[in-house]
Amino acid sequence: MGLRLTNTLSGCKDEFVPSDPQHIKMYACGVTVYDKCHLGHAMQAILYDIFARYLRFKGYRVTYVRNFTDVDDKIILRASQLGISPLELSDQMIEASRKDMLSLKVRPADFEPRVSEYIPQIISYIQDLQAKGFAYAGQDGSVYFRVRLKEDYGKLSRQNISELRCGVRKDVEEGKEDPVDFALWKVEETPGATWDSPWGRGRPGWHIECSVMASEILGDSFDIHGGGRDLVFPHHENEIAQSEAKSGGTYARYWVHNGLLTVNRQKMSKSLHNFISIEDAVRDYGYELIRFNIYQYHYQSNIDFSAQGFFLGLSRLYSIYRTRQRVIDYITRNNLSRSETRHPEYLQAFCEAMDDDFNLPKAMVVIQSVLQSQNEIMDKKINQQNAEELLSMECLLQDVLPILEIGIRPPQEFFHEIHSRYLTLKSLTNDWVLEKVAQRVKCRTEKNFAMADEIRDELLAQGISLLDSREKTSWELSERALEELVAL
Ligand SMILES: [Zn+2]
Repeated sequence: MGLRLTNTLSGCKDEFVPSDPQHIKMYACGVTVYDKCHLGHAMQAILYDIFARYLRFKGYRVTYVRNFTDVDDKIILRASQLGISPLELSDQMIEASRKDMLSLKVRPADFEPRVSEYIPQIISYIQDLQAKGFAYAGQDGSVYFRVRLKEDYGKLSRQNISELRCGVRKDVEEGKEDPVDFALWKVEETPGATWDSPWGRGRPGWHIECSVMASEILGDSFDIHGGGRDLVFPHHENEIAQSEAKSGGTYARYWVHNGLLTVNRQKMSKSLHNFISIEDAVRDYGYELIRFNIYQYHYQSNIDFSAQGFFLGLSRLYSIYRTRQRVIDYITRNNLSRSETRHPEYLQAFCEAMDDDFNLPKAMVVIQSVLQSQNEIMDKKINQQNAEELLSMECLLQDVLPILEIGIRPPQEFFHEIHSRYLTLKSLTNDWVLEKVAQRVKCRTEKNFAMADEIRDELLAQGISLLDSREKTSWELSERALEELVAL
């Protein structure tokens, strides 16, 4: 069976059939760039990037568009507080957002259009809607969309026009024919954020931006349109109304909506003091832990960040890298060569999970099972059959872990990063730990086991546990140490 997607438009989990069997076109609403990006933006960018990566893994060509909204009230307000022009502010924030995405290992979309670069197209789009009777200039000079003329309006959010929440009263007074109509072009004069138009100087309404950028790049009809659940109404409803009024055909065929991000089950907001910027989160937790946490939830549900979740994630990541290191050592020690064959059963299980509405928690269970099987094989005496098993699992992991961008670093790099972070937190040094380890080795060779145990306990009290093998003694962080590292 192929990919199935929960489609907000149909309300069902639909079989996904792209218009062009080889080429998938996807648009996701991006960031309004008035401030630094936060974990909510990270979650959304990571999800749609993974969708694109998985579809490419399946052999499709994918064109993925994620826009920047760089014309908006919030940008204008914040720019004036900072004493800079709105476009100057959005330039800075786009630059910061690109840096954030890089630090999360989110690949750039194929197209990252900015509203300010599409003003002539937006104007001619609105003129076309006006010519078709769907748009009119109100008494205040602004241009509005005639919602009641679009008979299927409300089909995405499942509302009747008669039950719609009316627009804010201020808008009604400004000159709309009908309170449910929404602005396509707002006439006003804000230096640096307005453009000349047939209706006077002004700027585009929010919804028209996405309709225009999507159709300019992907065409009037495309496969997947995504965004946060909070965008279903009015943003996406209005996008559909405008786009289908203009083209007469279907706009996006599958509407995918992700849940929102919460911190300790509360909505993230500056006033609740639980606002986490991407910059801070990557510094404090690392990009893999942020990703791991996201993969614990289905994209449609709200994704919660908590100290408990981070702790679980970090202990799992720690154990993933322990297995990765063990496999590398095992392959080297036994002089095995790489396999070109992906383990067929686990490949199927992974694809089944992802094809089931991008079920990341299920996919993660498959990854955990692969790692567990690898450990079981390495616990046994080596023979040709189980070496081949292990190598085909390794081949599979080499292909699927990069989709999730997890567990693919050299394990030593991961351990070094986590360990340094912990040692700094505890004001300890790597040299101190190594010296203690050496002292203990010496005690053991001298059969001074009491002293050796004392050193072991001293290290454990600092969150460092020792692992003795025949060849050497190494160290890792205790559970408690991992917990301390991720306390929110
Ligand atoms: Zn949008």
